[in-house]
Amino acid sequence: MSCVICGFYANSGKLCFKHAAAAKNLVENYNVWKNAFNISFEEYLHSIIKNRDTGVWAADVARYIIESGDDSILQEQL
Ligand SMILES: [Zn+2]
Repeated sequence: MSCVICGFYANSGKLCFKHAAAAKNLVENYNVWKNAFNISFEEYLHSIIKNRDTGVWAADVARYIIESGDDSILQEQL
């Protein structure tokens, strides 16, 4: 199986280790943002892409979820 985002080797699930780590951070950060800013998950993903401080790996994951509508890659990280 290869990463659905970059095509690199995926050890388990749909993501390579870099994108899996970014997806995990994304989920953890959302729990913080949700309480602080009261935003929806979709708004959060858009903020991640726009925010220049966000790592490129996290932006890849956010973009992938918006474009594909497939958020199952995040559930794998919970
Ligand atoms: Zn990847």
